[in-house]
Amino acid sequence: MKIRCPKCKGSAELEPDFSLVRCQDCDLEMTYGEYVRYIAHSDVVYSDILGDYTGATAGQNAGTLDEWD
Ligand SMILES: [Zn+2]
Repeated sequence: MKIRCPKCKGSAELEPDFSLVRCQDCDLEMTYGEYVRYIAHSDVVYSDILGDYTGATAGQNAGTLDEWD
């Protein structure tokens, strides 16, 4: 399956069993789990979908912000 490469924004390839993401343009190679975390950090649109990943971090950030008040 063709997906957008998170590194060079080119065309990357996702293995049919979701095991690996590869991009020939920039030699990117990572597991799908790593890919999901990568785009969650770099793309705001995806972080909405992946609330489970970002929720824990957001809670920690909120706690830090409270100390500034
Ligand atoms: Zn790439």
